[in-house]
Amino acid sequence: MSALRYNVSDLLHHPASRRPERIAIPGSELGGTADVRLSAAPLTIEVMLEHVPEGIVVHGHVSGEYESECSRCLTPVRGTFTVPVREMFERAPIDGETYQLEGEEVDLELPVRDAVLLDLPQKPLCRDNCAGLCPECGVDHNETDCQCDLNPPDPRWDALRALTFDD
Ligand SMILES: [Zn+2]
Ligand SMILES: [Zn+2]
Repeated sequence: MSALRYNVSDLLHHPASRRPERIAIPGSELGGTADVRLSAAPLTIEVMLEHVPEGIVVHGHVSGEYESECSRCLTPVRGTFTVPVREMFERAPIDGETYQLEGEEVDLELPVRDAVLLDLPQKPLCRDNCAGLCPECGVDHNETDCQCDLNPPDPRWDALRALTFDD
């Protein structure tokens, strides 16, 4: 059962009512993407639940910490994020746009997960100008150089060289 399930019967019985919620769970409970994981640091969800004619609107933001490896040099990378959340829960949700209002409960897990996972970097870097590892010998070019020849001759020059000029 989701830790992010809220009973909203108090709101549903009072038009235009609203209620703030603040919760922190270990980010690792939410998982991550193929390349980036949420760390065990708290994932903080601060939202306002609001009763509107269509259902319940949830708006606020989610912040937390992710961990991964630099996509160039494989050094561990950590970063923080804060993403806005603004979603609607309704009785007859629109697929891919709004979420299901189940009885008198809203489950924030899906919208929070969707917002956070979309925001995580796809190719995290330890720093913007990370030089990465040598694809030939594997040395870390941030620390040392190597003698590998990583610039094979441009094939366009081969074509030029092959030309013979008869006069
Ligand atoms: Zn790096
Ligand atoms: Zn090398």
